[in-house]
Amino acid sequence: MRHKHKGYHVPTISLIIPAAGLGTRFHQSSGAAFSKSRRRDSKLFYDLAGEPVLARTLAAFVEIPEIREVVLAVSPGMRSEIKRVLGRAACQKIRYVTGAKTRAGSVLSALRRTSPSSEWVMVHDGARPLVTTAAIRQLIRGSVGWDGVILARKVIPTIKRVLRSDGRIESTVDRSTLYEAETPQMVRRSVLIKAYKMNPCALQATDEAGLLESIGARVRVISHDGWNPKITTVTDLFLAESMIQNSNPTCTRTGIGFDTHRLVPGRKLWLGGIAIPSPKGSLGHSDGDALLHAIADAMLGVIGRGDIGEWFPDKDPRWKDVKSGVIVEKVLAESKKTGWLPYHVDSNIILETPRLGPYKMKIRRRIARLLQLPIEDVSVKARTREGLGAEGEGLAITCQAVVSMKRIQIAEGDIRKRRS
Ligand code: MG
Repeated sequence: MRHKHKGYHVPTISLIIPAAGLGTRFHQSSGAAFSKSRRRDSKLFYDLAGEPVLARTLAAFVEIPEIREVVLAVSPGMRSEIKRVLGRAACQKIRYVTGAKTRAGSVLSALRRTSPSSEWVMVHDGARPLVTTAAIRQLIRGSVGWDGVILARKVIPTIKRVLRSDGRIESTVDRSTLYEAETPQMVRRSVLIKAYKMNPCALQATDEAGLLESIGARVRVISHDGWNPKITTVTDLFLAESMIQNSNPTCTRTGIGFDTHRLVPGRKLWLGGIAIPSPKGSLGHSDGDALLHAIADAMLGVIGRGDIGEWFPDKDPRWKDVKSGVIVEKVLAESKKTGWLPYHVDSNIILETPRLGPYKMKIRRRIARLLQLPIEDVSVKARTREGLGAEGEGLAITCQAVVSMKRIQIAEGDIRKRRS
């Protein structure tokens, strides 16, 4: 939360997201990257590191309390899809208008739906999902005393001015005063309305700053060094994805699990959910499946939720003789709830006898089904201890597991808060 200094005036802002664009260049650039059936989808619904582009765009604004309402300018038919991908809770603040042919037309339709009690209108492209909460805050801070402020980046490449006819270079442009205009653009609502009224070419304007400039209003750039691209082509989408993956090491995590059970006569030997014919079985409150216990513990490690001893205490009669598959399923459900999915499992079974060769495939298949993974992503290795130690003497079985997991979109489309 912003500190409320004495005398600090908290601005009221309506956020407008023009999202009605056809994405023609995006689909032209897609080649074989996506199936034909997706060609008609808006690029805003494409997956970007586990979340739809539009959900990521909106996430940066969720933590800005000055933003009172969100008006989305969309094409007919997008509305129900937006509700589906964002979830009901996230959509409560959102109002919809039908977009127009041009961006400025869409913004005008949305502007008419904004509350007159908002002093400011902030416009942000639906296809700029990498904007950060910090940059938005910077913009709001910079608005004091101005009619408008826009996020912009200093032009770095060398720019040539050429003759239209044959491309001959006329001059090298002094780039020290050149900026590339981005969004968000934050403008006084009354001034923007006036600009639409006064400028006869308003509907052709490519940004809000341009409209304000045309009536002589005072607009300034807020320079930033981040990367806030507009997703125009499929290459942009892939670049943005790798940027997110690289800048967010918590997108994947690895958990480690370990379990030992005593081997005693008169018990079944369960391993990976398969009953292995054996004169001895593992002693335990549950079915004693050390492999599934190690896997479940590794997953709890990833999500930081303790260990299975805490989740399934052996004092609790509910878990007496419980099939360990149930334990894995419960842990998987909890993982999904916290936004994590396994994508690879490696494991060791340390056991002297019986030899597990004939059962390994069955065990892998069973674990793959429990974790909803392809069988290639589940590895089960079996070792003996050459007669040494408790396992070697046939007194115990030990299992180890390493489970790799990736972050997924939070259930029910809840917009995940972006870490800024
Ligand atoms: Mg155990």
